[in-house]
This record gives sequence, C-alpha cells and structure tokens, in this order.
Amino acid sequence: MNFEEMCLDPRILRAITEMGFEQASPIQAESIPAALEGGDLIGQAQTGTGKTAAFGIPLLQRVDPHNKKLQAIVLCPTRELAIQSANEVRKLAKFMHGIKVLPIYGGQEISTQIRSLKGGVQIVIGTPGRVLDHIRRHTLKLEQVGEMVLDEADEMLNMGFREDIETVLDKLPEERQTLLFSATMPEPIMEIAKRYLNEPQIIRVVKKELTVPKIDQYYYEVNPRKKSEVLSRLLDLYHPELSLVFCNTKRKVDELVEDLKGRGYFAQGLHGDMKQSQRDRVMKGFRTGRTDILVATDVAARGIDVDDVEAVFNYDVPQDDEYYVHRIGRTGRAGKSGKAFTLVVGREIYKLKDIQRYCRTKIKRQAVPTASDITEIRAAKVLEQMEKVAEQKNLRKQMSLLEEYLEDRDLSSLEAAAALLFLQMGEDKQEERMQSESAPEKRQGKGRDRGSDKARSRDEVRRRTQKKRRGGSETKKAKTNYKW
Ligand code: AMP
Repeated sequence: MNFEEMCLDPRILRAITEMGFEQASPIQAESIPAALEGGDLIGQAQTGTGKTAAFGIPLLQRVDPHNKKLQAIVLCPTRELAIQSANEVRKLAKFMHGIKVLPIYGGQEISTQIRSLKGGVQIVIGTPGRVLDHIRRHTLKLEQVGEMVLDEADEMLNMGFREDIETVLDKLPEERQTLLFSATMPEPIMEIAKRYLNEPQIIRVVKKELTVPKIDQYYYEVNPRKKSEVLSRLLDLYHPELSLVFCNTKRKVDELVEDLKGRGYFAQGLHGDMKQSQRDRVMKGFRTGRTDILVATDVAARGIDVDDVEAVFNYDVPQDDEYYVHRIGRTGRAGKSGKAFTLVVGREIYKLKDIQRYCRTKIKRQAVPTASDITEIRAAKVLEQMEKVAEQKNLRKQMSLLEEYLEDRDLSSLEAAAALLFLQMGEDKQEERMQSESAPEKRQGKGRDRGSDKARSRDEVRRRTQKKRRGGSETKKAKTNYKW
C-alpha cells in the first residue's frame, strides 16, 4: 500500500511529497493503516526502516492542531533520537499549522523546556527520565494524551528505563492508543505489551528468502556532510564504466545529480516524478555510455534493465533488507565481476548489521580513501599495466625513439619514466583532489567561479576519456582490465 491509498490528510501527503518519499517502506505500509484504525500496535522494526514516519504519520492524523494541550507522548532511548525524531515529525507536520513538536531530554536546562512547554505543545518526544520529571513537576499535563509511542523499546529497557516507562504508562489516561516499536522482542517487552497494550496488532514485516549475488561488498562510515565527496573519491578510485547510485528519496536524487555534475561527472537522475519521455532519454544516455552514473530511487530502478553495471553505490542505506538485495543484484550480472559500496552514517550501522544478518552476507568495512591513497593505487595500476606491456609487446621502436631523444638531453631514463607516469595519471585531477583535501571550505563556499572553472576543466578530461572509450573495443577491454 502506498501513501496515496492510506486516506491521509492532504497536508501530510503534501509534506511526504516534499520530503521526496517515493513509496511507503514495508513497515510504514503495514503499520500506518493499522494504526489509523485506532487500536494498539506492536511493530518490529529496526532503526533506518522509516519507523519514525510509521508512527509519526498516524500521530499527526489524530492530533488536533486547534487544541493546544498535550495530546501525544513518544518515549525514546536517547537525546539524539529524540531530536532526530522531533525533526522528522516536524517535517511531516510542515503544512499542519498550529502543530508544535518538542524534544525533551536530560542534559538540557529544564527551565528552557518548561518555557517551551508553556507555549502549548501537542507532541512531546523525550527520554523517559526527563519526561517523568516533567510529569512530576506538572509541567507536562496528561489529561488529554490520547497517543503514546514507545520507540526502540528494547533499547530503552537495555538502558535501564523500564521503571520510568512503567511509571509514565501508569499515569496516562486509560483511554488511549499505544504503539510500541522495537527491533527485538525479548520477554520483558512482551510483559510490558501484555500489561499496558490492549489487544495489540503485531506487525512484523515478512521477509522472503533471498539470494544475495556473490559480489564484493564494502561499506564506509562517513560524515553526512562528506557523503558526495566520499562517493566521488570512490568513483575516481575504482573508475567503473557504468555505476548505479541509489538514494532513498527523489529529492536526494536531484540534489546528488546536481552535486556530481558540478564535480564534472556525467550523471543523470531517475525517479518517479519524471515523465516517461524524460526517463527514456536518461536510460538511452546510460545504455549508450553518454551517462556514466545513474542516480535512482528504488522504485525508479525497478523498471530498468541494464546488464553491465560495474558498481552499485548505496548513497543511502536502504530502508529494507530486500531493497539491498535488489540494489546490489544490479551488478555482477552475466558472470561479470561487480562491486557494491554502501555509505553509512552514524546509527545506520545497525541497519547494515541487520542487512548482513538477514541476507547472510558479509559487507566488509573499508576506510574512506584519502587523496594520497587514490594517487598510490592509480600509480600501482598504471605500473602494473606498464609491466605487462613491457613483457608482452615489442617495444623496440619506442626504445629507439627514447634513446634518440634522451641522448643529448640532461634527463635520466628514470626522470623520463616518472614524467610519463605523471602524464598518464592525469595531473590536474590529482592536484584538485589534494586541494580539496586541504581546503574543503573554500571549495564549497567562496570559490564559486574557481569551482566552475575546475568543473569545466574536469569535464574536458572526462570528455577526452569518454571519446577514447568509444574509440574501439580494444581500448575498452584494456581499460576494463586495468580498472578492477
Ligand atoms: P527512521 O527509520 O525513522 O530513522 O528513518 C530513516 C530515514 O528514512 C529518515 O531520514 C527518513 O526521513 C527516511 N524515510 C522514512 N520513510 C521514508 C520513505 N518512505 N521513503 C524514503 N525515505 C524515508
């Protein structure tokens, strides 16, 4: 079931569209309609599966924006999660004027929180201890709370919050809806559910048996602001001829395509908002090699049929284990070698662990390549190629040309070889990478003109490579061997 079929408030639907969600994730598709029916619910879901929206959307649907009293409480284990979830719910409530969402957690001045609460807040998302503190101070009034969510319930228990949670639940009005989300369902969670939930519906996303293609899979732990830089390093390092990059939202696809184009790559996006004619054009470009990198959402990629994708990049960790398998299955087809790379930010590492467990596959951690790693690896590849040429080809003519050239020059053969290596590796790109490492701010901010000049010169380099690539099957083959 997709969002359009869930009979949601048009203002929520508008926010969902603006957030770029193309389809409901499996946990959302099952729990939103169930929660909208009004009963209690237990959802087994890991972080990163879209569970915040899975409870956030039904909450917003039921909260009355004209009533300034507290109507919903979400308990979660950490300050970070409280802030993150509050931001997500705020985004979903963007067009519902009058809705106020407040994260409250230990460590922040309680007086600041009291002041914010006095302004009228309908949804509070907080850690159990601090929420209880406010309840005891009567700065949180519970009479009109009709919605209660326990998020990451197993984590909260692991952190010793059981007593606090139970005290909060005891103080809530009987007449309420309670939603409990947890990645695992140990006995204590079931005990809480038995005691505080009323005939809950249990939602577990049923997983199919999936065969993971045997390809090399790597992940990189990255800073969220450095994601596109890391992606471009990997593209430069591995230099795949055709790459498929997956993002979780349409919006991210558009942003990333612009970013990659700005960096001089031949990238195009594919997502559900595009007309058929636009999609056809993009796909044609990808098939003919005019586009090296296709950035797509899961839905958009479903309909495409391209066989020789050399690398799949999960720019965002997929929201569902199954998506991961579908995504990486795009590479390594027809007996070809393929690679899959996943960029992981913060807590997404748990989602990745879940994927590995469920798919029974190993995703190896790798350090993000530095600029000098790229230079070293590229040099090693060129030298390896050089050795093969020296062994296999007749180089008499080239040797005599060089001998003649060096005879009356003040240049040793080593210097000449080093200069040729330098030329072969593309000096401008190498320098650019170095600069971007040492002065990242300049690159993103002030140096706009410089940036576009750079992009232009890089475009030039790429166009030249592209031309070479189309220049015949022999060149293409040699290049492919060299790259992987
Ligand atoms: P969560 O599991 O709630 O922590 O969500 C993880 C990330 O997925 C958040 O950045 C959400 O904005 C995003 N997200 C949630 N639902 C969807 C969806 N249906 N499509 C794409 N992204 C989503």
